[in-house]
Amino acid sequence: MIKEIVVIGGGASGLAAAIAAKKKNKDVLLIEREAELGGILNQCIHNGFGLEVFKEEYTGPEYAYKFIEEFNSLDIEYLLNATVIKLDKVDDIFIITLSSEKLGLSEIKAKAVVISSGCYERTRGQITMPGDRPRGVITAGSAQRYLNINGFLVGKKVFILGSGDIGLIMARRMHLEGAEVLGVAEIMPYSNGLNRNIVQCLNDFDIPLYLSHTVTNVESDEFKRLKAITIQEVDSRFNPIKGTEKHFSVDTLLLSIGLIPDITLLDDFDIDVDPKTKSAKINQAYETTVNGLFICGNSLQVHDLVDNVSKESSRAGTSAADYIDGLVTSRQKIKIIPKENILYVAPQYLDFGWSFKELIISFRSSKKLEKAAIKIYQGEKLVYQKRRTFIVPAEMEQVSFPYSELSKDEDLRVELEEL
Ligand SMILES: Cc1cc2nc3c(=O)[nH]c(=O)nc-3n(C[C@H](O)[C@H](O)[C@H](O)COP(=O)(O)OP(=O)(O)OC[C@H]3O[C@@H](n4cnc5c(N)ncnc54)[C@H](O)[C@@H]3O)c2cc1C
Repeated sequence: MIKEIVVIGGGASGLAAAIAAKKKNKDVLLIEREAELGGILNQCIHNGFGLEVFKEEYTGPEYAYKFIEEFNSLDIEYLLNATVIKLDKVDDIFIITLSSEKLGLSEIKAKAVVISSGCYERTRGQITMPGDRPRGVITAGSAQRYLNINGFLVGKKVFILGSGDIGLIMARRMHLEGAEVLGVAEIMPYSNGLNRNIVQCLNDFDIPLYLSHTVTNVESDEFKRLKAITIQEVDSRFNPIKGTEKHFSVDTLLLSIGLIPDITLLDDFDIDVDPKTKSAKINQAYETTVNGLFICGNSLQVHDLVDNVSKESSRAGTSAADYIDGLVTSRQKIKIIPKENILYVAPQYLDFGWSFKELIISFRSSKKLEKAAIKIYQGEKLVYQKRRTFIVPAEMEQVSFPYSELSKDEDLRVELEEL
């Protein structure tokens, strides 16, 4: 079987990419490992989705349903319970190896591939946490799935490490289901979640947030179940400060300590990877440094808002279609480099052979800034600037501007000047 475009993953990102490619009359196949389309949205039963795309506030499953309806109306081919286990490129053709309920272990060929495989949660093994190794320490997203999909409350006395959005949302969710949520500890001096989630998930329920604190001991009972934790304040170098210990008797510690793009399928490619996003470097068409291989959604950069995932992935699907139609005229590119107060930028390249008129740059700040100017330079020339108030690392920022006037020889530098 040879398809024009194969999309890997059927969450918000894969759905939007497949819809956009199909609207450009491409022969598209979407492959999803779960039994349903929708991805992580299916377990996000809180509201807060869709304000930008639909101007309405939906729950995660409602937002997914909107896209699934459109996807089905376009008669896009898809496989469920199908996991892509290997991706290769031989000459100009991609070879997708999958294990699926319907086809068994099989190979599908494609002229272009869009990776929309989402992200995974950082676990206890990826950070330093002293103490015992009891049951009851679990990632917040897994707890959310157990509760919202399988109907199991994972604990009754809960503490949460990390103030990412999943941790904040699970603090409220566990509280509403009758668990006692004793607090949230965050090692940074600021929260990593959206401001609205701090207010609606913690403040509204009097759940304390301990900033500049981390877990410094974990204790188990004789059955190897979690019994208690200790948290401590940390100094500016994240070293625990003696005398600041606080003890909590808990049966569950939820970890919300970061999400990492899932790019395992890129292992066999010699591809440029950005150490900051921990994903592939892309051009403004969401194409990696392998021609015809596109990436978007949480597998490209961890998003706080699903609306941005849908918009970005729709553009990636359109780019994949343009690639198939032979609309890429050259491969001349310049770099887009993050500078002062910028954690990362995406795309990392501006490629002049694509037909896009606007350059859209996503970025996160490396620190909280009350007032700042976003400035983009090419050499000494200021090519874009905009003033902003209240920029925080937790919220992804975007700027867009036409790039037809830019020089094709000099790189772009993106800065956040503190005002
Ligand atoms: C807990 C939580 C709360 C959130 N709250 C909000 C909110 O309130 N408002 C908001 O706007 N946004 C929110 N977001 C953000 C938003 O929901 C996500 O950014 C978005 O849904 C991610 O979509 P995605 O398609 O990139 O990833 P996913 O939804 O993770 O989809 C990836 C899909 O790829 C599949 N897959 C992966 N690997 C393979 C493979 N090898 N083969 C086949 N299939 C594969 C997976 O099964 C999955 O279905 C939240 C996110 C989380 C995690």
